[in-house]
Amino acid sequence: MTFDNARGRSTPYRPSPTSPNVSATPSVVQSLQLHSGSAVPFSVEFSPPRDAAGEERLWRAVRTFERMHPAFISMTYGAGGTTRDHTVRITGELAEETTLLPVAHLTAVEHSVAELRSIVGAYADSGIRNILVLRGDPPGDPLGEWHKHPDGVEYAEELVRIVRDLGDFHVGVASFPQGHHRSPDLDHDTAHLAAKLRAGAEYSITQMFFDVEHYLRLRDRLVAFDSVEGAKPIIPELMPITSLRTVKRAEELCGRPLPQAVLDRLHRAAGNGAEEDRAAVREVGIQIATEMGQRLIDEGAPCLHFITLNFAKATSEVLTNLGYGVTAAPVSA
Ligand SMILES: Cc1cc2nc3c(=O)[nH]c(=O)nc-3n(C[C@H](O)[C@H](O)[C@H](O)COP(=O)(O)OP(=O)(O)OC[C@H]3O[C@@H](n4cnc5c(N)ncnc54)[C@H](O)[C@@H]3O)c2cc1C
Repeated sequence: MTFDNARGRSTPYRPSPTSPNVSATPSVVQSLQLHSGSAVPFSVEFSPPRDAAGEERLWRAVRTFERMHPAFISMTYGAGGTTRDHTVRITGELAEETTLLPVAHLTAVEHSVAELRSIVGAYADSGIRNILVLRGDPPGDPLGEWHKHPDGVEYAEELVRIVRDLGDFHVGVASFPQGHHRSPDLDHDTAHLAAKLRAGAEYSITQMFFDVEHYLRLRDRLVAFDSVEGAKPIIPELMPITSLRTVKRAEELCGRPLPQAVLDRLHRAAGNGAEEDRAAVREVGIQIATEMGQRLIDEGAPCLHFITLNFAKATSEVLTNLGYGVTAAPVSA
């Protein structure tokens, strides 16, 4: 089968795929420690592929990153039943067929608590112990009105407690350098981030941003609000821009426009012709992500987390610019 060829084969993370030795599965925080030798660890985010070609592309990217030893990989959780079943299946395959540490995203959108428990159970059956707990956005219109499932949860904080109560799971949550779009102000936003961490989350991954100052201010706010929760890792999320179309995608994912200075650099590279100079835009996009990555490393970020859109090339280039390459596997604890 093409998929199997695309996947290749390597030593499984756990001794037996059918009966995973889950106690040997490190948490994200433990993995960050294991990977923080000479360089700041990095991690990558994938999304559930839509079709067979997308699945093949995903596996190519997975195998490329596998040789670079990310601290973890994460798989987003989409809207809609089929995509969701697909997500659970693929994340399980990543756990069973690669050497990578997968983190499964889970959202509360249109799920009862019973359904959420059963999805967590399905992840556990595949040996997945790391879950990024999210509320999610209203399907179709992320900015639309949020309605919780009648038997579901209102906020991610409740889901953190549910997942933690289900067993030996390691939970991460989302954080927002410029505040979540529904938060009335940054103080409210910080208080709710601290509450999610206090409920049992061990770290957060930020929404993507393009001004490192926003990340640094989030870190300062959280430490000032709660020094205990503020000591937990805040993992910055980056996405290399490769075209003006990716700018649009980035703005959708951030829920706000990119900083003007970043847009100016990209538009200057695109030129004034009828068609954008894609090679120049890509070069500048990679440069911007490299500069941000370097500043974050200098500022002591615990990890660099990259949105890949299931492509390895742009992220690998940024990592190469930052001095990462194919490395020896970290010695496991
Ligand atoms: C790293 C990352 C990964 C993501 N992955 C996915 C994914 O895989 N799939 C997907 O669909 N979406 C994903 N998202 C998007 C995310 O689901 C949305 O941004 C969503 O709007 C917020 O989710 P949350 O978990 O932060 O929600 P919450 O923490 O529940 O916060 C939602 C809003 O409610 C406020 N709030 C929280 N608790 C309370 C309270 N007790 N009282 C009053 N207000 C409160 C918060 O301040 C915030 O404004 C991701 C986001 C990030 C940053």
